Amino acid sequence: MWFCWRLTWCRFVMIDSHDVHFSTLRQAMVEQIAFHASLVSGETGKSELADRVMAVMGAVPRHEFVPDELRAFAYMDNPLPIGFGKTISQPFIVALMTDLLELTPDDRVLEIGTGLGYQAAILSKLARTVYTVEIIGELAREAASRLRKQDCTNVEHRIGDGSHGWPAQAPFDKVIVTAAPELIPTALLHQLSAGGRMVIPAGVEEAQQLMLVRKDGEGLTSTQEILRVRFSKLVTPH
Ligand code: SAH
Repeated sequence: MWFCWRLTWCRFVMIDSHDVHFSTLRQAMVEQIAFHASLVSGETGKSELADRVMAVMGAVPRHEFVPDELRAFAYMDNPLPIGFGKTISQPFIVALMTDLLELTPDDRVLEIGTGLGYQAAILSKLARTVYTVEIIGELAREAASRLRKQDCTNVEHRIGDGSHGWPAQAPFDKVIVTAAPELIPTALLHQLSAGGRMVIPAGVEEAQQLMLVRKDGEGLTSTQEILRVRFSKLVTPH
C-alpha cells in the first residue's frame, strides 16, 4: 500500500517538474519571438507584437501540438515536421500572423490549414469562435483530439479543401491561411466581412510574401506585403 502511494507520488512530481521545465522553455521562446520581431521590424513596420498575443504565446503548451518524439524541441523558434510532409509553423510567424489579425473577443475567425492545431489553439484564446479547415483527414482528427484535451471548446473543424473557405459559416471577421496559394483564392476574399482582415502567404515557392488583406466598409480590398516567408503549398485538388 505504502509502496503504491509512493510510486504515484513520484509520478506526480515528475509530471509537475516537466510542466515547470516546459514553462521555462516557453518563456525563453517568447523572448526569442520578441527579438525576432525587432530584427525584421524594417520589413514588417512593427518592432513589437501586441502584449496579449505575446501572453497567449507564453501560455499555450506548444509541446502538446507536436509529435511526441519532438516535444523536447517544441520551444525552439523553428518549424517542426508533423507528418505528411507538413510542418507546425515557426512560433515567430504564428505570433506575427496572429498580431496582424488584430483579433477582438467577438471575432469569428476562419483558419485554412489546421495541421495539428497549434495556431487554432492560439486563435481560440483571442477570438469568439475559430472555424478551421484541414485537407488531410488524419491531421484534422488528431488536431481535434489535441484541441479538446486543451479545452479549446470554441474551435469548429472541417475536413476538406479550404481554398473554397467555409461558405455555410461565412462571413468571417478574420481569415488566416497557413499554407501558400500562388494567388489569393477569391472565395476567401468573398467570405471576409466588410471591415475584416485576412493574413495569407501567397506567391510562387521561391518568392512567397506574407500578405495582409483589408476589406473596408464598402467592401473594397487592399493588400500589403509584410514579409518574405516560406510555407508549404495550399493544395488545390481538381
Ligand atoms: N496551422 C498549422 C500549420 C499547418 S501547415 C499550425 O498551427 O502549425 C499547413 C497545413 O495546411 C497542412 O496541414 C496542410 O495539409 C494544410 N493544407 C494544405 N492545403 C490545404 C487546403 N487546400 N485546404 C485545407 N488545408 C490545406
